[in-house]
Amino acid sequence: MADDTPSIYDELGVPRVINAAGTKTRIGGTRIRPEAATAMHRATTEFARISDLQAKASDTISNITGADAGYVASGAAACLTLAAAATITGHDPHAMSRLPQTDNRPNEILIPKVHRNSYDHALRAAGATLTDIGTNDHTLGPGATDLEPWEIEAAITDNTAAIAYVPRNNLPLDPIITTAHDHDLPVIIDAAGQLPPKHNLTRFIDAGADLVIFSGGKAIRGPQNTGIIAGTTNLITAIALQHLDMDTTINTWNPPPTLIDPTTLPGVPRHGIGRGYKVSKEALVGLITALQLYHQEDQHTQHQQHNHQLQKIATALTNIPHITITHHNKNDPTTTPTLEIAIDEPTLDTTTTDIVNQLQTTPPHIYLNHNPTTATLTINPTSLTTPETDTLIDQLTNTLST
Ligand SMILES: *Cc1c(COP(=O)(O)O)cnc(C)c1O
Repeated sequence: MADDTPSIYDELGVPRVINAAGTKTRIGGTRIRPEAATAMHRATTEFARISDLQAKASDTISNITGADAGYVASGAAACLTLAAAATITGHDPHAMSRLPQTDNRPNEILIPKVHRNSYDHALRAAGATLTDIGTNDHTLGPGATDLEPWEIEAAITDNTAAIAYVPRNNLPLDPIITTAHDHDLPVIIDAAGQLPPKHNLTRFIDAGADLVIFSGGKAIRGPQNTGIIAGTTNLITAIALQHLDMDTTINTWNPPPTLIDPTTLPGVPRHGIGRGYKVSKEALVGLITALQLYHQEDQHTQHQQHNHQLQKIATALTNIPHITITHHNKNDPTTTPTLEIAIDEPTLDTTTTDIVNQLQTTPPHIYLNHNPTTATLTINPTSLTTPETDTLIDQLTNTLST
């Protein structure tokens, strides 16, 4: 959008911000694809059953990821809660109605210590208890950086419901999946932030993971309040049963057969733990559209465009003293390239924290990533338009030159 186009945020008196930080929920997440926004608008004028839209989403997710089935909830964090719920309750409507109380059912989710992060609260929200695994450290340094198969094996008890994994620290996935499956336990993967590379859409499913979660509001550029779960039919059904609004009787309930087979159930589960994570017909249509487009998108072209934007910024800042600019991931089309600006804090007599605060609090309110320890600012081009790139250049030149 050109800078002189009237903005809804201006109209509301809410300050607009420039997002040079990637896809951050606190500043609006992603720039939704125009085709997805149009599809959402078209979805507003008529009705469809949410369960049928979920069945369509399931087919789309299945085709693209190679999983048996799929589901959409209101963000990857919501998907984590639903994944945990599904591994605890199975298809038992009574157990579903009790969550987050898990009674005497297995409710422990094992998670490598190095994968603990602030989103694992979403697993606990379903009633799961997290147990850290991995104490071995080959270098005898502090902390736990490793996890060996025997440590997984030793941690599994009758109370274990699942194993969670976050693709980080290069922890091998195969031994976790093998050990989990030896014990008939599912593996949940939080791959919310693992796109790009696009290859990750299939990679974890190929490796045998049972539930794989992606954010719909990051690189896929769907509605910000969507998340995707790809997984086994059995677990996706357990998720649908505690997410869908099913205010109906067993005799008039005709859910889409690819998601739910009512003949296997004693009754209709009522408003499960996922009810608060509902997804509108508009968001479902938007997500399906965005996922198809992301799948078709040429990673190389995208990467070149991002490199071009970053190069423009680097060139414009090249004569500013006491900063060092590094263009990361320039030659790897499977990643998002970034531009790192290292600040010589003592010479400039300022800190990156002060610079970041100044950029954020004064118009045009620029948000970028920073690391105070290494005194670096990092620009991620994912959500940055061409006119915004020019504004960013002007503002950074002013801020860093004084
Ligand atoms: C972003 C992220 C989430 C949350 O995704 P939302 O779609 O915003 O709910 C969860 N886990 C990880 C690792 C993430 O990077």
